[in-house]
Amino acid sequence: MNSPLGFSTRCLSFESETLGFHHMMSVDVEDYYHASALSEVIKPQHWKDWPSHVDKNTDCLLQLFDERVIRATFFILGWVAEKSPHLIRRISEEGHEIACHGYSHQLIYQKSPEEFREETYRAKSVIEALCARDVLGYRAASYSITMESLWAIDILAKLGFVWDPSIFPIYHDRYGMPGTPDIPYEICTEYGAKIIEFPLTIANVFGACVPAAGGGYFRQFPYWLFSRLFKKTEAEHQLPQMFYIHPREVDQQQPEVKGLSRLSQFRHYRNINCCQKRLQKMLVYFEFGPVSDLYKNLH
Ligand SMILES: [Zn+2]
Repeated sequence: MNSPLGFSTRCLSFESETLGFHHMMSVDVEDYYHASALSEVIKPQHWKDWPSHVDKNTDCLLQLFDERVIRATFFILGWVAEKSPHLIRRISEEGHEIACHGYSHQLIYQKSPEEFREETYRAKSVIEALCARDVLGYRAASYSITMESLWAIDILAKLGFVWDPSIFPIYHDRYGMPGTPDIPYEICTEYGAKIIEFPLTIANVFGACVPAAGGGYFRQFPYWLFSRLFKKTEAEHQLPQMFYIHPREVDQQQPEVKGLSRLSQFRHYRNINCCQKRLQKMLVYFEFGPVSDLYKNLH
């Protein structure tokens, strides 16, 4: 169908008999100082001055997944891949799926298409060299594929990406494309590029779209509410839903960055101390697997 957003989309169905039913577990592998909420204080040229916690926190997530025998998809930031190659090799060797989270964690709509193409190519190349396999999945920093950066889809397809969970079908001050489908769909751009989009999970509550995909929403909402929204969406769509988490969200020793706005302080730090316990509950209550399991079973 022709979407009001200027590209054509085709919603996809999925073969549950061959896949079994599990949701998509995704991790954006970046350090706390890469987070968009901290970017108002920590600029990229100062990242190297802050102590890195990404190894320790990713270890924690790997351990939680290992305990439940869960394979996940890890979206690796190219900058982290260059600084911690051992970490990326380890994630890959433990049997998880490796995907790309761009290079510099800058918002796509603040870049030129050429800058975006160059740094995404750099990230994909370094990650593929470390894992010795093709990287087919991409997720934008802070879900920054929006109306202003739709051109990124063509570039991603030309670089060899075939699926992308970057579009959040909600209103938000930093991201979001309200009105786009809330189930997997194929995007066909006017230049003929195609990519499979896995939208971030939203629940329909009395006609309103409520984000229920993980990350900040997982920390801010009470656990009972988040898990109920996730379950409600599962029941209504009968489709695997997308869940995401960041290593920094289980980091109880994370350095506190001073000078943030109240909103950023709230978004970044709230409920970090109980996030690990909540995640353990999610992993018991729901079944999870990597994104490509769903990709392989779409029609
Ligand atoms: Zn990120």
